Amino acid sequence: MATGFLTDTTVCIGCKACEVACKQWNQLPHDGYELTGDSYDNTKQLSGSTWRHVAFIEKPKDENRYRKLSGDVDLVALAEGVKDQLPGGAEIDGLGRWTFMSDVCKHCVEAPCQQACPTGAIIRNEFDNVYIQPDVCNGCGYCVPACPYGVITSIPEDGRAFKCTLCYDRQVDGLEPACAKACPTNSIMFGEVEELEKIAEERVQQLHDRGYPNAFLYGTPEVGGTGGIGGNHSKFILMDEPETYNLPEAPLLPQATVGKATLASAVTAVALGAVVAWAFGSGE
Ligand code: SF4
Ligand code: SF4
Repeated sequence: MATGFLTDTTVCIGCKACEVACKQWNQLPHDGYELTGDSYDNTKQLSGSTWRHVAFIEKPKDENRYRKLSGDVDLVALAEGVKDQLPGGAEIDGLGRWTFMSDVCKHCVEAPCQQACPTGAIIRNEFDNVYIQPDVCNGCGYCVPACPYGVITSIPEDGRAFKCTLCYDRQVDGLEPACAKACPTNSIMFGEVEELEKIAEERVQQLHDRGYPNAFLYGTPEVGGTGGIGGNHSKFILMDEPETYNLPEAPLLPQATVGKATLASAVTAVALGAVVAWAFGSGE
């Protein structure tokens, strides 16, 4: 049985309960108290100590392009109530809205991190989740650039790589992952991958029927496909281009670019050789 996630970004309210639950259950350290200046998102990104990251994506107001969804926080609607109190006579129409997205490891079917790992530390466990064995990881860091989503990072203490375990320890005890359990809007759904795919299909259709034709399931052949990755067990319903959520439109296996890189190196070597030969030749 393969288990995974379906994250429906259209009902995420950005409460960050999932982020906190992940930190708490997995006893992950905090990342400092820095103000990034990037909206209200001070977590910045996924890392070896942050395995769920709720991205805050601020949108300019443009009614024609972005329509309000139930889970989105519409700044204009909020501001209407305090219109008279806005400082400096701020223009309400100049405000936009937020979209939230709780990002996590994609648990790729053909996981590039697993392919890059030389020690066999990254395995697929009995739930078909991509799992890093911390006691086998030697901190070489090969998996870090191999991940097309930028999910894995090494911790500074000893260089070992960490990421979402899909709460393996909870699944073994028949519990759902901590993040899904904590989510108050059911934006994060956990279950069997086949079941989640059916739910995703129905939800996308429901959104289309309600007048949101831009809703789609990320990582399908219609949206750039999944390169050689063969699909994700961690799925997302999105309303905008993948890049908006810091996701690649078409994730690639690292080896997909090896041919081009090798050719570029060969061309550079030949060109350099020609320049050196010309320089020596002209000096005689
Ligand atoms: S499944 Fe567990 S480890 Fe993964 S993001 Fe959720 S709480 Fe964190
Ligand atoms: S996914 Fe759920 S728990 Fe996480 S921020 Fe969104 S609504 Fe809150």
